[in-house]
Amino acid sequence: MGQLYFDNYSPVGDIIVVSICVVFLILVLTSYVTKTNNFKIFLCIVGCLVFASLSEVLYHNIYAHITNGNYTAVYIFRILYHFFLFLILLLYVFYVVELQHLELEKKIPIMMVSVVTFLIVLAIEIITTINGKGFRLDKSGNVVSSVNTFLYGYTALVAISVVTMLVFRHRLYKRVMMGFYGTVAVAFIVLFIQGRFDQSSFTAATFLFPTLGMLYLIHSNPYNIELGAIDSKALEDIVRYNYERKETMIFMSLYMPDFDGEGISIPKEMRDIIRKFASEFFKGALLFQINNGHVILMAKKSSNPDYENRVNKILNAFDEQYARFRKDYKIVIGETIDEISRKNEYISFINNVHRNMKMNSVRMIEYSDVEEFNRYEYILSELADIYRRRDLRDSRVLAYCQPVFNIKTKKYDTAEALMRLKLPEVGLVYPDQFIPLAEEYGYIHVLTQIILQKTCDEIRYLVKEGYEVNRISINVSVLELKDEGFTGDVTRIIRDSNIPDEKVAIEITESQSEDDFNIMKKKIDEIKEMGIKLYLDDFGTGYSNMERIMDLPFDIIKFDRSLVIASDANERSAKMVGNMANMFTELDYSVLYEGVEDEDDEKRCINMSASYLQGYKYSKPIPIIELKNFFSKSDVGNTMVKQD
Ligand code: C2E
Ligand code: CA
Ligand code: CA
Repeated sequence: MGQLYFDNYSPVGDIIVVSICVVFLILVLTSYVTKTNNFKIFLCIVGCLVFASLSEVLYHNIYAHITNGNYTAVYIFRILYHFFLFLILLLYVFYVVELQHLELEKKIPIMMVSVVTFLIVLAIEIITTINGKGFRLDKSGNVVSSVNTFLYGYTALVAISVVTMLVFRHRLYKRVMMGFYGTVAVAFIVLFIQGRFDQSSFTAATFLFPTLGMLYLIHSNPYNIELGAIDSKALEDIVRYNYERKETMIFMSLYMPDFDGEGISIPKEMRDIIRKFASEFFKGALLFQINNGHVILMAKKSSNPDYENRVNKILNAFDEQYARFRKDYKIVIGETIDEISRKNEYISFINNVHRNMKMNSVRMIEYSDVEEFNRYEYILSELADIYRRRDLRDSRVLAYCQPVFNIKTKKYDTAEALMRLKLPEVGLVYPDQFIPLAEEYGYIHVLTQIILQKTCDEIRYLVKEGYEVNRISINVSVLELKDEGFTGDVTRIIRDSNIPDEKVAIEITESQSEDDFNIMKKKIDEIKEMGIKLYLDDFGTGYSNMERIMDLPFDIIKFDRSLVIASDANERSAKMVGNMANMFTELDYSVLYEGVEDEDDEKRCINMSASYLQGYKYSKPIPIIELKNFFSKSDVGNTMVKQD
């Protein structure tokens, strides 16, 4: 039987192991692998596999060539072979521990137990070989004893990794864990079959299987073949990797909103061009696909010292293509900046730059973009906090107000509430800097409720003090109208404030989408039923669809400042604005002109069927408590407050 053991060895298994390790290397070099600490462990494992296989080949080879009956070298290389196999098993434990991000107090005991086990099983191997209780050959090279101490060590170390994976299984995505268990199971099966055939050539090969799992499940970032791009997860990885190595990278981002939706993607012709750009103009460039319509190219600055030339060439080439495709784009170019790399937030950084730039333009990153981004992140975090607290009197949300002049009564008796934020670190923040964010992140409805609350508080005060206040309008985003609870929230706040419903009005901007419209209509009808007046905001910007406007129960049409300006441009525009205003008036709407800045504006608006005027001519937006300076008092005001 001992004789068989040696006879049944063929180097084929080990040759396969070494070749597969070389294949791993090729794959690692040509694909983009995630280079975490785990990856270092992975590389060590691959190295150990090569050494283990070579030692095995060597010890069998030496054995075959020994004629003098001294087998010391065989023992040494056999132990070396087992040493590497144990080491691989130990590294598997390390890999699992690292993968599960265990806390130090959990990590250290596991690592200590596995290192101690490793040392013990290795010592047993050595001792039993020396004292002859383990593996032993006689003078003529026959195996006299082959107590398999290796098997015990193997079982102990494998058990540690399997148990660790089981105990902390919730730390790992289930499918990944199943993937590893699968590879381990296959390894056991092969070992079992090998045993049945009294074979020993494939032991090292079975150690390969979990490594395959690692490369595929953990480190691989598959290419999008058409584009030659990898996904955004890999972008974070490359940023971290190069930041740790103090390597500056150049990046170039191309955003094409036309393709940035579900189920659409950049057409093939354009993809080919983008792929070509990446490989032709930069050395060692990597392309990352962030979204369907957003790709980012990154390359080492040290490999592309003259990158500005290259960028210019790309831009020229892009211009040529643009003439052909005519698709909107935004291009952002820059070098990595430590501040952003440290946080690893290039995608949101670049998205923020997009937000602040015009369509079809190119922007070179400057430090001011970083400051802008920090400000954006800060505002966003404050918004998130405001949203979380849902404090309807949050002191960071300010209600400003712009009084509106009523032509009929020649008085200020209505006003528009306008939101500001007052944040500890940056002071006053204007709507253009946070309304789009609040909408994007779903915080807007809480903000509206706060403004409504503060507006109601003020109305209540004004009414109580005897001021003539017809109503104050608040701005509502179309998005909010999709919220089931919208009408309920508005009703509750108004009623809890003990003011008549009709003292509040709501301004809504037209929406282009048909879906939005239908949802809007239902909510708006509910609101109207309460006696709340409805303003159509920003008429004259965007797509005005008369049919839809007529379909909604608006009371007041707010003509945007752009129409006030247009009415001064030429006779034709003036006629058009005037006639539209007449038409609305005849249909029983009131017309409010926004952005009336001077006497000229005022005169024209009055001549164009104005019912209300609003603009800097009368007042800039002021803190809501100053509104009383514009309103006049009536003697009967006190009686208008509902009793608590
Ligand atoms: P809007 O509803 O059209 O508000 C009118 C904007 O025009 C205000 O800008 C106001 O300060 C400005 N304005 C007033 N008079 C004049 C003038 O004579 N000339 C010019 N050029 N501008 C004038 P503001 O306060 O910066 O608000 C900007 C936009 O932010 C608002 O446009 C509105 O769409 C949005 N917004 C403001 N507050 C809220 C809010 O509480 N909720 C929501 N959803 N949106 C709000
Ligand atoms: Ca408005
Ligand atoms: Ca407006």
